[in-house]
Amino acid sequence: MARYTGSVCRLCRRENLKLFLKGDRCYSDKCSFDRRGYPPGQHGQRRGRKISDYGIQLREKQKVKRMYGLSEKQFHLFFERADKQRGITGTNLLVMLERRFDNVVYRLGFVNSRTQGRHFVRHNHFVVNEKKVNIPSYLINIDDVVEVREKSKKIQAFSDSLDAVVRRGIPQWLDLEKENMKGIIKGFPVREDLTMPIQEQLIVELYSK
Ligand code: SF4
Repeated sequence: MARYTGSVCRLCRRENLKLFLKGDRCYSDKCSFDRRGYPPGQHGQRRGRKISDYGIQLREKQKVKRMYGLSEKQFHLFFERADKQRGITGTNLLVMLERRFDNVVYRLGFVNSRTQGRHFVRHNHFVVNEKKVNIPSYLINIDDVVEVREKSKKIQAFSDSLDAVVRRGIPQWLDLEKENMKGIIKGFPVREDLTMPIQEQLIVELYSK
């Protein structure tokens, strides 16, 4: 599957928002967005460009897709599933994205980015309810217990990430036992838990065309 392999900082500058794709670097003074907060490319600093309604909707979709590190196809499949559920499609979409396994290990602070989360999930470093799960898109459920595998607990990257997680905090729908490298899913997130500036209705409008 085609995956973006260019500079991820470029994506933040493109979306005009810090997407926190690079772990610790995002909180340091090396953050490219903080240093050059204008769109990349030759015409990035051009002012007064008009953007159509379609363009606004497209940018919102790209922003969320890039935040969670998904391909177009994966994102669209998530949208279709969200659309079939009861309730508000946009909220359903965001909640499902939050429930992804690679996102949950990131939110719990076991890793410092979703990309690193995906990598460690694929390499079998986590268990869910004591069973091995190595699928980044696996959807976590209420009362699931997510844990760093016993053999992997000595890996320095996990301790480093857990030490650094205080900067972003653990969401209220998750419970972390830091010493045991274990997290419990207390419930699904509600819209108010998702504090990134996302207008999910624009994504729904884009896909409804
Ligand atoms: Fe985005 Fe992080 Fe790069 Fe800053 S350091 S531009 S937040 S990915």
